[in-house]
Amino acid sequence: MPLAAMKKITKRTAQELVAEYGTPIDLVRLLKDEEITLKREDMEDSISGMIVIKPADTTIVVNSSHHHSRQRFTIAHECGHYFLHADSASAFIDQSEKIFLRDAVSACGTQRQEVQANWFAAELLMPKDYLLKKFDTKKIDLYDDYPLRLLASELKVSVQALVVRLTALGLIPNDCYEPHV
Ligand SMILES: [Zn+2]
Repeated sequence: MPLAAMKKITKRTAQELVAEYGTPIDLVRLLKDEEITLKREDMEDSISGMIVIKPADTTIVVNSSHHHSRQRFTIAHECGHYFLHADSASAFIDQSEKIFLRDAVSACGTQRQEVQANWFAAELLMPKDYLLKKFDTKKIDLYDDYPLRLLASELKVSVQALVVRLTALGLIPNDCYEPHV
């Protein structure tokens, strides 16, 4: 599938869910409506989570030792596999570094699915339209990270994830922000 088409489908799928489940997204209600079981388990630190997709019996498992905002990102990422990739595989296991650091699109199909699940999670947790409205009238003060912390807390995401998102949307110039964390 061409990249542009892949992006469009990802965005559209996430936006439909955002319209229904709000911002910050109500993941509990979404999982309940889809009859997806969520389990939090003590896992190896390198594993963020996994999803096993079965008809009427889908389970997402997240690493309970990870920070809450990170668990939310993992759940959103796994939902990406559920909504976008259920036809191609029935199980996905996600390693932390792969989930969080991968943003380049490689030719490999599996890696593309991981990138797509990240796009999906980003749009679900930090919707583009919502952020554009937030930053429509005011510039982000790069020397004051309080507004970013506030927004991250409002969206229940990490400051790091928010900065990555804002940079990707062109709202923060590349390499201009050093989070004080
Ligand atoms: Zn994944």
